[in-house]
Amino acid sequence: MELTKLIEILRNNGIVGCGGAGFPSYAKINKSADTIILNCAECEPLLRLHRQVMEKYAYEIMTALEDVAAAIEAENVIIAIKPSYESAVNAVKANLSSFKHIKIGLLPEVYPAGDEVVTIYETTGRVVPPGSIPIAVGCVVYNVETMLNAYNAIYRGIPVTEKYVTVCGEVKNPVTLKVPLGMSFRELIELAGGVTTGNPAYICGGPMMGTLATLDDVVTKTTSNVLVIPENSYVVQHRKANIKLQFNRAKSVCCDCYMCTDLCPRHLLGHPISPAAFMTAGVSFRSDNTKPFLDTLYCCACGVCELYACNQGLSPRTLIGECKSNLRRHGVAMAEQVKLAPVSRQRPRRMVSKERLTARLGLAKYDVDAPLDERTVGTDRLKLLLGQHIGAPCQALVKEGDTVKAGDVLAKTPETSLGVALHAPRDGRIESVTDKFIVLNTRR
Ligand code: SF4
Ligand code: SF4
Repeated sequence: MELTKLIEILRNNGIVGCGGAGFPSYAKINKSADTIILNCAECEPLLRLHRQVMEKYAYEIMTALEDVAAAIEAENVIIAIKPSYESAVNAVKANLSSFKHIKIGLLPEVYPAGDEVVTIYETTGRVVPPGSIPIAVGCVVYNVETMLNAYNAIYRGIPVTEKYVTVCGEVKNPVTLKVPLGMSFRELIELAGGVTTGNPAYICGGPMMGTLATLDDVVTKTTSNVLVIPENSYVVQHRKANIKLQFNRAKSVCCDCYMCTDLCPRHLLGHPISPAAFMTAGVSFRSDNTKPFLDTLYCCACGVCELYACNQGLSPRTLIGECKSNLRRHGVAMAEQVKLAPVSRQRPRRMVSKERLTARLGLAKYDVDAPLDERTVGTDRLKLLLGQHIGAPCQALVKEGDTVKAGDVLAKTPETSLGVALHAPRDGRIESVTDKFIVLNTRR
């Protein structure tokens, strides 16, 4: 397929990265890439859906992956996956003979193997420079569900209107569902049999990098997991950390043991971030050396320092995040061409086992099957956010009272801006339109 045609299909069908921040997939297509990596690492504890989708749709995903690789003339096409995802690995192997360019790249069973910088290093030996993106080392990384969406768009003309979401933790029946965009977390959790704890908190995403959510939040193109967990759990309490209190705690008890830096996945790859140096400089108000503060810009917020490494229960990631946002607010950007240190020789011994991490977080009891269930789910009302991707938000093309069919374009980003279209997940009537969302009433 021609490059321009592929770009048009991906853009018009609303395809964005299905995990993370939702970068529009068409904008990643770059002729200077020699390597395409399909990220099936799923590194956070309790997450399930990538391996489930890969197991069921390996042929479709590999077809789209090879199409994208052919369009940009990439020489290497790698499916990055962990050996423990046996059924998914077997599904890929069963189809390999049909795709002459695709190879399997086995990842270690560690967190965060799915961080793009780590995935690229593990599969190619290349280190993305600090503050750079994968194309700087000739790589483009796609998510498993994104490639399934690309297949559906290329071969079936189907735009993105639904999302696979795993619902796990304190719910009666942990499950991975395929639901329409805009469904509320309340409805989603009811479909998983309801909450089984008296004091629930909700996390959108994984326990390490996910964010606190409410029952009124809705499914977007990047929602992969909803975790229900007791409000007083270790994971939730860290999310609710009071910055001032955390800063004072750090002043009192940080013993400069350096464990957080020793285990920092980006530091181990030679990036300049050092949480221990930041904590020491921050708590002692040292202003003669700004490096530990400026280096916070290279933190990927993986949470290893905070939720795994620190033996004093401190919150380096949270304080680093605060510093980072303050720097950005004042217009401080990452320096260009930062020097990369060599990859640490200690790295193989310092990578964080996913199994140990799950136990440390107190989540082992929730690490259970959450079977894939693709039945069509009913819903009366969908709240479709206009900003579901990185770039310019969509602008509504419909107005209150309009009748729409499933698949109709509801909103678009301006042609000259980064962004994709938004489509109706179901037939219905437009109930309301604001500059932030469109509400679709599916009862009509
Ligand atoms: S969150 Fe902590 S461990 Fe992760 S990259 Fe940032 S400083 Fe390093
Ligand atoms: S691991 Fe904790 S105590 Fe040790 S240097 Fe880092 S923040 Fe301080």
